[in-house]
Amino acid sequence: MSHTAAYATPHTPAGIVAARATGLSKVYGQGETRVTALDSVSVDFRRAEFTAIMGPSGSGKSTLMHCMAGLDTISSGSTRIGDVELGSLGDRQLTRLRRDKVGFIFQAFNLLPTLSALENITLPMDIAGRKPEPAWLQQIVTTLGLSGRLAHRPSQLSGGQQQRVAVARALTAKPEIIFADEPTGNLDSRSGAELLGFLRESVRALEQTVVMVTHDPVAASYADRVVFLADGRIVDELREPSADAVLDRMRLLPGGNPRPLAFDAKGRTS
Ligand code: ADP
Repeated sequence: MSHTAAYATPHTPAGIVAARATGLSKVYGQGETRVTALDSVSVDFRRAEFTAIMGPSGSGKSTLMHCMAGLDTISSGSTRIGDVELGSLGDRQLTRLRRDKVGFIFQAFNLLPTLSALENITLPMDIAGRKPEPAWLQQIVTTLGLSGRLAHRPSQLSGGQQQRVAVARALTAKPEIIFADEPTGNLDSRSGAELLGFLRESVRALEQTVVMVTHDPVAASYADRVVFLADGRIVDELREPSADAVLDRMRLLPGGNPRPLAFDAKGRTS
């Protein structure tokens, strides 16, 4: 990735909050089926920082991501993206904010099969009636090693290349923040490591803000910071984590039963 070093032109003051939750609670159901998925969570995601969210199954990781991205309503507290309180927005404003300020990378790549890689990358901006900045698009495509693949359809690309197209799509609109949900879940170990390297690089060289839900301590070790959830609460945080430190911390969580470190024999992420 050394070729991207020349792009690094830090101009963002450190410490700006890209997204924030304050006293965020989310309750599903009522009476006997009532579940408190998030219990007064307060957390900041700073600009140009890569955060991993970890925790046992059912600890509230997806709910936190969905609430912070404006994909789900909240029960109490507040959330904001940049300076905008999500609770102050109507449905249409919220849709626009998601479109303009939030990038998503899901485990399933969600690429349209009839469009070329380039058309897939620019689709969200086309829908929004915006044009990508040519220099920025070029930088992303080069950083992700997709220059020779832009005319290809998804079926003509490897899984790793498809996932890079999905990353490029998320980056192109310069969102305030990117939420990635188990982005390496469908990739072999090499493609997974590559993708995590690209996310890292997008944070370092392109000053992107990334929040990634993962259950894989190795994936989490690519982040600047790991936030641990248990029973809907933030219970701990590690900075500059090693995979071993993450694994050790996971073992201590209630219900924490992490899968084996690194990649299994089939070469898939654990
Ligand atoms: P994680 O992503 O850490 O596995 P989730 O955020 O998916 O956890 O879930 C947190 C809790 O909220 C779990 O107890 C789950 O069963 C519950 N939950 C999540 N989504 C819903 C829903 N749509 N309806 C009812 N309960 C839900």
